[in-house]
Amino acid sequence: MNGEQRYDKGKREYTTAFLYPDGQEIILDHLDVELHENGIEIIGVKNMRVVSESKMNSLVSHYKAIMEELGIKTDPENEKTPERVVKALLEMTRNDGVGTEELDKQMTVFSSPGEALIEVSPISFTSLCAHHHMPFVGTAYISYVPDEHILGLSKFPRAVEWFSRKPSTQETLTIEIGKYLVGRLRPRKLTIVLEAEHTCVSSRGVKAHGVGTKTTYAYPKGDV
Ligand SMILES: [Zn+2]
Repeated sequence: MNGEQRYDKGKREYTTAFLYPDGQEIILDHLDVELHENGIEIIGVKNMRVVSESKMNSLVSHYKAIMEELGIKTDPENEKTPERVVKALLEMTRNDGVGTEELDKQMTVFSSPGEALIEVSPISFTSLCAHHHMPFVGTAYISYVPDEHILGLSKFPRAVEWFSRKPSTQETLTIEIGKYLVGRLRPRKLTIVLEAEHTCVSSRGVKAHGVGTKTTYAYPKGDV
């Protein structure tokens, strides 16, 4: 896999991108790749998003058009804003429509030593609300009683992160993470609680700050 580095990989807030001879652009979380003289080695592609150069240009020009329609004047400060917004959106929607195969590979289960209650929290997360495409930020609390299997503790934040990277309602996100973990663990019981503040509530409309929304998924059903 040979490629020419396209964007500054030193900036942590950006993903790393490579432009390939056929014009395909591959955008990766920079923590997941290693650079070599003759290309890159991909070490776990949990955050991959592939966009062609023409798609990137199209997205940027569409966002430029939105800024113009909104009457936002171009100045040196926002010259690169369309590109920044597109990159942020690509990152925050990177798992939309993607299967969980890459996540599954990281979710190796172990034999359970017993029936202890296991609690993993707080797990911070950021997602994008499906209705306004504005971020909601919060904390996940997961607890479960295993049957035959347990998961490594670091796998829970990974699962939360995975499902957060696409537009969702908080309700759907909670159920998706819960059902996924139940599918992997086959536990006796599992509860997941998400508490979040939505910027579409705090920054627009009622502009209510500090309003937390709490959603709970419980397995077996009704065991809240
Ligand atoms: Zn919203």
